[in-house]
Amino acid sequence: MSKHGKLKIIPLGGLGEVGKNMTAYEFQNQILVVDAGIMFPRNDMLGIDYIIPDYDYLRQRADKVVGIVITHGHEDHIGAIHHVLNDIPAPVYATRLTRGLIEVKLARNNGTSKAMLHTVEAGHSVEIGPFKVEFFHICHSIPDSVGLGITTAAGLVVHMSDFKFDHTPVDGWPTDYAKLAEFSRRGVDLLLSDSTNAERPGWTPSEMVIGPAFDKVFTEAPGRVIVATFASLISRIQQVADAAAKHKRKMALAGSSMVDNVKIARKLGYLEISENVIVPLDQALQMQDHKVVLMCTGSQGEPSSIVGRLSAGTNRQFDLKSNDTVVLSSHPIPGNEETISNTINRLLRRGANVIYDSMAPVHVSGHASQEEQKLLINILKPKHFLPIHGELRQLRRHGAIAMELGILEENVIVVENGQVVELSGGKVKLGERIPGGYVFVDGQSIGEVDYDIMRERGKLARNGIFLIDISVDKLNGRLLHDPEIITRGFISPEDAEEMIPEVRKRIMQVVNGGGWDNEKDIVNAVKSYLYEETKRRPMVLVTLSKG
Ligand SMILES: [Zn+2]
Ligand SMILES: [Zn+2]
Repeated sequence: MSKHGKLKIIPLGGLGEVGKNMTAYEFQNQILVVDAGIMFPRNDMLGIDYIIPDYDYLRQRADKVVGIVITHGHEDHIGAIHHVLNDIPAPVYATRLTRGLIEVKLARNNGTSKAMLHTVEAGHSVEIGPFKVEFFHICHSIPDSVGLGITTAAGLVVHMSDFKFDHTPVDGWPTDYAKLAEFSRRGVDLLLSDSTNAERPGWTPSEMVIGPAFDKVFTEAPGRVIVATFASLISRIQQVADAAAKHKRKMALAGSSMVDNVKIARKLGYLEISENVIVPLDQALQMQDHKVVLMCTGSQGEPSSIVGRLSAGTNRQFDLKSNDTVVLSSHPIPGNEETISNTINRLLRRGANVIYDSMAPVHVSGHASQEEQKLLINILKPKHFLPIHGELRQLRRHGAIAMELGILEENVIVVENGQVVELSGGKVKLGERIPGGYVFVDGQSIGEVDYDIMRERGKLARNGIFLIDISVDKLNGRLLHDPEIITRGFISPEDAEEMIPEVRKRIMQVVNGGGWDNEKDIVNAVKSYLYEETKRRPMVLVTLSKG
């Protein structure tokens, strides 16, 4: 088949970072979106709930978006769907479980009514505008994950979302190798593939290895077992339920996202938990400790999660007990290591036993390691390769792996969010650059908090604040009364007592001496004095009234 037309591949999220995955494909002026995820904020993103991709490019072309395909139900792939659908009312295509989890998310954000959701099945193909999308099953840490074959007149692109080659997955459904071989026979023009573990040699262990690790924990735990993981890590929830049944403990779920996700996954048959294993939380809290396992969120140490609150002693429904065993069943997302470490220390200090993945295999990655990445490339033999889903260092490593396997250097495209890539005439080249940054979600506000605000918050948090309130005579410009000064987070109250009179004196000198035009001159005078004294620079704010 002769190739014609130009396919634009537009990475909006997930390239150069971990999270908020979103890619758009544009052909003949029509756009197909793949995934709409969120990213969890880093430690320095103060006050931010989560981050969504900057999809302004799509918002401006909302009428051209013919469909949104979601590969699986993890937050970094579905988390932003309600935001996206608010702006872009396109039909959504997802497998049954993914669709169920999307519905849960939409219901929690009051957005179900408008959405057009279509259920697809692995093995099926759907024509969406000029795109023929073939869905095929892939193994990951959540059931019903799919990869995509996307065919247009410009050629065949395989979009391999999060995957691993697990021969003994929890749900017994391995990756569709036959489909990969079929793509290979047809000729793959471009492969996009999961780079998460590109720095990890060898093979990612099977989910199977977790069983014995949980057995050991459940056998040895003297009291309650509290397992923390992501609410969307459905396979892990199944494994905990299996261990609970085996060790005659009752399992209860804490936290509404966990409860909602489990409910839908059970209803759709993706979680098999017998009625006599699962009990409501308040019932579990009345039972003997060694008969109970609680599942909750907070494996990343998030302060607002249940484990975060347990570590701080601020959880409302139940508190930590000294014979509790807390299992953190997930791997730190880059940037979260410090928070997790602090949380572990606090849990230990409060008397709990804590088990995490460097102590026992209570977690395995859901992502392919180097040998699996190589296997995928060798099966598909793509002409071009575009690593996705990773920080720049992982994308680069994945690119290097592809070159080792014989893909020409000029055909390996390592780009970050916002760099458009074009496939035409069987060749790939770089296209335009579009915005590909962060949109911060802070409570109800979306995109109103920007980097300047974040920098200010950081400065406040690091250096504290100095507030000065002055009023001057509008005729002669002299102070009407002594400046009022409040300081927070900068110096101790004792030091403040010493320093504030001096600051007051400096302000009076500047103002009454007439050596100023506006607030800025006062700010600068105060700043330079504070710096001389402390070698630190708090935020200094002056409010000025004239009377
Ligand atoms: Zn995933
Ligand atoms: Zn992912």
